[in-house]
Amino acid sequence: MAAPTLLIDYSSLLHRAFHSMPETLAMHAVYGFLNMLARLLLDHRPRALAIAVDDDWRPAFRVAALPSYKAHRDATEDAVEDPVAPQEAAGRAVLRGLGFAVIGAAGFEADDVIATLAEHCRGAVAIVSGDRDLFALVRDPDRFVLYPRTGVSKLAVVDEAEVARRYGIPGRAYGDFALLRGDPSDGLPGVRGIGAKTAARLLARYGSLAAILAAGDLSPAVARKLDAGREYLAVAARVVPPVTDVPLAAMPLVLPAAPADPEALAALVAAYDLASPVERVRQALARIRAAGDQPPLPADS
Ligand code: MN
Ligand code: MN
Repeated sequence: MAAPTLLIDYSSLLHRAFHSMPETLAMHAVYGFLNMLARLLLDHRPRALAIAVDDDWRPAFRVAALPSYKAHRDATEDAVEDPVAPQEAAGRAVLRGLGFAVIGAAGFEADDVIATLAEHCRGAVAIVSGDRDLFALVRDPDRFVLYPRTGVSKLAVVDEAEVARRYGIPGRAYGDFALLRGDPSDGLPGVRGIGAKTAARLLARYGSLAAILAAGDLSPAVARKLDAGREYLAVAARVVPPVTDVPLAAMPLVLPAAPADPEALAALVAAYDLASPVERVRQALARIRAAGDQPPLPADS
């Protein structure tokens, strides 16, 4: 496969790293993220790369449509103050100092930034995220998700076959599956009475939510539940799918040839004890540059 564009979900992976890296360093989550970034660069030799951030992890437009959206997380984690937050800011500064395109949009999640960027990318696009919402963006053969298996060191390739294998649904139907089934961890109840099993069975048979709703041969029980859930489905359609037309500042996604701000970077590296992972990222970038226009290595799965 030709060198892909990598769209990296910073917020998701930083949290993964926070919980999987030993806390021997103050900036252990950033440390783990940078190591993962170096490995991604070497394994995939991307031609372009963007790092998407949650400028808002619980956007007002989603809460306005469905007040339960991530409501319980607000009550638990946020009120106590998110322990990842200080590392979040430090890591962004390091990545900007290195010259990477760090992209967020006020009022939107990284999910939305990635979905928007994916719409505009040509060729292969690898989305790196531990957020299953992004499975909705999988499109063979060009667009797949690299999903962390354990921590952030092992990544599963999630393409249409893998979506089908995991959920028993057509490979492009994850978005519809999420609408029907809901997601308690995000405060999304789903259609009442339709669990993962029924949602998967319906999607496997009819192919899409639209086709299910148009079907004339549903069992009376299912037809009744879907009918009662119509209002929920209409609301959830504005909450669940990643937004694909977020207004984004134009920014080149090419790999940095040199640090954008060497002095700021040096100060951050010293302050946060990040010399070795930053050096790993810089060496990975140098190796890709040295390889020049040689054909990229095959993607590692
Ligand atoms: Mn997310
Ligand atoms: Mn999400």
